[in-house]
Parts: sequence; C-alpha cells; structure tokens
Amino acid sequence: MGMQDLDTNHAIEISERVWWVGHYIEGDPFQCHTYLIENGDQSVLFDPGSKLTFNYTFRKIEEVIPFSNIRYFVCHHQDPDITAAMGLIDQLVNRDDAVLVTHWRAAALLKHYDLQHIPFWQVEENDWQLQLNDRTLRFVFTPYMHFPGAFCTFDEKSGIMFSSDIFGGFTEEWSLYAKDESHFEAIKPFHEHYMPSREIMQHGLSRMREYPIRMIAPQHGSIIPETLVDFMFDRLSGLDCGLYLMVREDTDIKHLVAMNQMLRDSMEAMMLYRDFSDIAHYLLNAVQKLLPIKALSFMVKHDGQMLLLAPDNFYHGVTVDISPDFQELFSCNQPAWQEKYTTHYKKIADASIGGNAGEIQLVMPLFAADKQSCRAAVIMHMESETVISAEIDTLFSRLMEPLLTAVEREMIFRSMEEDRDVIYERSIRDPLTGLFTRLYMKDTVSRMLELHDRETNSPVSVVMFDVDHFKHVNDTYGHMTGDEVLKQVSAVILSECRKTDIPVRFGGEEFLTFIASSRPDCGKEFAERVREKTAILRFNASDQDFSVTISAGVATHVQNESLQELINRVDLALYSAKENGRNRVCIAPPIAPNDQETPDK
Ligand code: GH3
Ligand code: MG
Ligand code: MG
Repeated sequence: MGMQDLDTNHAIEISERVWWVGHYIEGDPFQCHTYLIENGDQSVLFDPGSKLTFNYTFRKIEEVIPFSNIRYFVCHHQDPDITAAMGLIDQLVNRDDAVLVTHWRAAALLKHYDLQHIPFWQVEENDWQLQLNDRTLRFVFTPYMHFPGAFCTFDEKSGIMFSSDIFGGFTEEWSLYAKDESHFEAIKPFHEHYMPSREIMQHGLSRMREYPIRMIAPQHGSIIPETLVDFMFDRLSGLDCGLYLMVREDTDIKHLVAMNQMLRDSMEAMMLYRDFSDIAHYLLNAVQKLLPIKALSFMVKHDGQMLLLAPDNFYHGVTVDISPDFQELFSCNQPAWQEKYTTHYKKIADASIGGNAGEIQLVMPLFAADKQSCRAAVIMHMESETVISAEIDTLFSRLMEPLLTAVEREMIFRSMEEDRDVIYERSIRDPLTGLFTRLYMKDTVSRMLELHDRETNSPVSVVMFDVDHFKHVNDTYGHMTGDEVLKQVSAVILSECRKTDIPVRFGGEEFLTFIASSRPDCGKEFAERVREKTAILRFNASDQDFSVTISAGVATHVQNESLQELINRVDLALYSAKENGRNRVCIAPPIAPNDQETPDK
C-alpha cells in the first residue's frame, strides 16, 4: 500500500481497532507517527507528536473516538517531535484518571513542558505492563538505543510492536507501509546515525524479539508489515552503528553514510584480500561512489626508496625519482601542510606518476597518526575537472587513515617477504662461496633425476671438483687464504654455469655441479673449462704468488639410479683423476640402466 492507496488526511486502521493518527508532512524525510489503540474509555495514544501536527492528529482521533476516551498517553521518550503536544494535551484533558505513561528518566524531562494536570504513570513502577480490559501492553526497555530511558510497547492482542525510534527510517518517497526489502535502505542510515553502538542495539533487538511481533509501528519512516519483520530484524542486527561518534564538523547524514560505507569497504578489502592490487581496486570502487576518480596510485617511502604503486605496474611498485612536488609533500608535517594549503589535497599535473599529460591529479599526503611525518601519498587520477567542496575535503581527511593502513600493511608484508627471501636464500646458499647447499641439492636434484627416470630425453650429468693439495694451501698461506681460493674457484664454477645448472658446495673444497643437457659431452666440456680457468687464477699471500689446480670427475645419470649412487660413481671418477696425476678430468665408465627403481630415492 502506498500513498496512492491511502488517504492520510484521515485516520488509518492499521490493525483491528488500532489506528494511525499521524500527520503527513509534504517532503519531510522525517515523518512522525502517532498511533491510537481504540479501547472504549480506556483508549491509548502513543507518542502524541509535536505542537505543529497536533491539530491534525486531534481531528483524526475524533474521527475514531471522542478525545476524552483516551486515558493513557504513552511517551516512549521525550523528544519534542514526539511529545511537545503533551503541553497542549495537559490543558485539554478533562478526566482525573488520565496518565502519562513513561519511564522515570523521560518523566524528569517531560515535566519541563509544564504539565499541570496529568500525572506520570511510570512503567518501571508498574511491572513494565499495562492491563487493559481486552489486552495487555508490555513495555520493553531498550535503554541507550537513543535515550537512557527509551522503551517500546508490545500490544499482545494485535501483535504490534510500537517501536519508538527503533526501525525508524529516513524516506524521500514516503509510504505508510514499507513496500519491500528495499526499505532497509531507509532504516540503515537512521540507525547508523542514531544508535550509539552495535552492542547496545543488538541487546535491544534481542529483547524485542522475545515477543511474537506481527507488525512494527515506529515513530518515523514506515510501518513494517509481518512479511518483512524477520528480514528487518536480521538486517538491523548486523548493522554497524555509532557513526555519530566520528562526527565533528560533518552533519550531512549522506556523507556520513557514504563515509561509513567507505571505511567498512576498505576494512573488508583488507580482510578479504592479501594482494595489494586487489585492495587498491576495492578502494577505488569505494571512493568512486563519492568522486569521479579514474584510478588510484600510491607513492610510498620504502627502505629509503620512493616506490610508485600504480595500475600500470599492477601495483607491484616501481622505484621512481622523487619530483619537487613530492619532495615538498614528503618533507611536510600535517600542521604545516594545513596552513599552506588549507585543504587536505593539492592539484598537480605530473604525467610521470601514471597520468596522461594535462590530466588533473589530486595528491593527498597520508600523515602518520602523530601528524609529524608524511608516510605516503595517494594520487587520485580524476575523470574530469571536479569542484572539491569543503565536505569532500573533510571526507578526504577521513580517508587518510584507511588508506594509510592499507599502504603500511602492504609495506609490512613486503618487508616480511623480503626477510623471508633472505632467510630462504641463506638456507639454500653457502655463505662463503654462494653455491647451493647440500640441503637444496637433495630436494632439487632428486626431482631432476626423477624427471630423467621418466623422460629419457632429459639426461643429467654431474661433475665433482676437488682442489688439488688444498691442505698445502691452508698450511702454507693460512686458512683465510684457503677461503679466498675456495671463493674464487666457486666464482669460476658459477661463471661457467647456465641458469639451469645446479652448482653445490658438497664438502670443504669439493663441489658438485648438476647439468641438465642432452649432449653427452656437456659435463666433460664444462669440467674442462672450469679446470682451465682455475689453473690461470693467480693468488698472492705472504708476498708469494701461487696458483691452484683442480681435479674433476664426470658421470652421467642412468635411469633409476639414485642420487647417492650417482655421487658414488662421480666420486670414483674424481679419485681416478687424482690417481692419474691431478689437474685433469676423468669420466666415469658407462653403466647399464637399473631395471628397477631403487628404493633409497
Ligand atoms: P687432494 O689433492 O688429494 O684433494 O689433497 P687435499 O690436500 O686437497 O686433500 P683433502 O681434500 O683431504 O683436504 C681438504 C682440506 O680442505 C682439509 C680441510 O682443512 C680443508 N678445508 C675444508 N673446508 C675448508 C674451508 O672452508 N676453508 C678452508 N680454508 N679450508 C677448508
Ligand atoms: Mg677433498
Ligand atoms: Mg683436495
């Protein structure tokens, strides 16, 4: 039922002998509702309304019953739009037993309407219920939902919850009854704004939920019919409130709602996503609801470098030279910035930060919580030249915290990843020579060999090097010089390796290199090159020049040969090289492939 079906110039029966007797104010998003329970000369009026509307309400009441039939005037709280008419009613009422039903906290304020005649009937003194001849009204205490003494009334007979401010709504196109689930959009901002916290609201909602509610009749917005009761309860109990706690200068409810949404979206993005590009896209979507922004980029100081995280580098970040614009920004503190620019942003036309020439970009510095240092800057690439109102600028200041959180979180993740990479590198690389460790070899080479077991066309050769008479080097020139020799021999091995080869420091001065190649001579050629290049290295210690030689063994993996078996064979070949005079390469004699898989792989 919409406005077109109902004549709001007259009382409207919303349930048997329960009437809407409010007054529709054209174009007011804040419609106030008065309700009447027709109950002979024990009738009840809920939240009689303001002085502005009481004339109309009075007329509608009289359409249903004589005004003097009302004995109970229920005031769910003391706001003037709901109770200011009590001053008039006090003069109008002409029966001794009429009472004003309210909570003591509201009574303390309502008395200031100069109520001379009507006494208070306080719910907490009357066991939170009112017995009428054919029904019981139960008062539900919902403290602090909008006022410390706030309560609602449940009428058992009709199943109507007269819900006071709860379930109220802001409506641009008002209808007496909520049409469908979309009405929640009207309820949402009202509660985000007025309800102090989610916990308080959930408490109140759970108290209301104890009653078999068939209709909700709030003071504002629209009546919730039975079909929507469960839906509205569920949605409302999941809502974040306490929005007004953030408000200082901003009183525009739409901005606050948009802002709240933005904050929630950005928090959600950070919970949902790990990847900064996902978060950046999500943030962009959120700010696009407020402004015509085409793209977002971020400039961040990280490890002494300036990183630009922009859509065209998929937010991986590239190191950039800092332009004078940004130099100024990063050297500013918040008070100095505010004094110079008065706004939270600055317009720049710098095509080097991801925009096209001539495009307007707004740059907003993101200051640390102590306002003393600029940690990062967000660059908003604008769709079009836009006038930034003072409200939007205020909104920018609110965006600072979630944006900075997103950026700093990303930088923490990056540092953690860098640390992890360093630790991993350390675990797989020998610190003296930079060659891989035996641990790494076991994992990687075993896999290489398994691949060869299956695919005969991906053979693996291994070369084992051992420095000749290395003990003599140590003994003559000292251990430090020995280390230097190991470093340089390793450097030769590394320089001769391809990316796919795996050079390993196997023992003290023994090195292995695994080579994946289908050319049978590949291992031997590699070993010869390393041997020759090592032989021409020149060392100097204790004023003496000297050189070293190395011996090498080469073996080619056969199918189903284990890593250990292969190493044993190459070791034998190396032994032959030593036996045959050192400074030479020996090839392990070919063997037949194993027929069966070896168990020790
Ligand atoms: P050969 O020609 O038969 O290989 O003779 P060699 O003297 O090299 O004999 P061997 O391989 O047994 O000697 C290895 C020496 O390498 C013994 C050990 O003190 C030394 N060594 C092992 N690790 C290191 C190291 O990290 N630094 C230094 N300076 N020496 C090491
Ligand atoms: Mg040795
Ligand atoms: Mg040796």
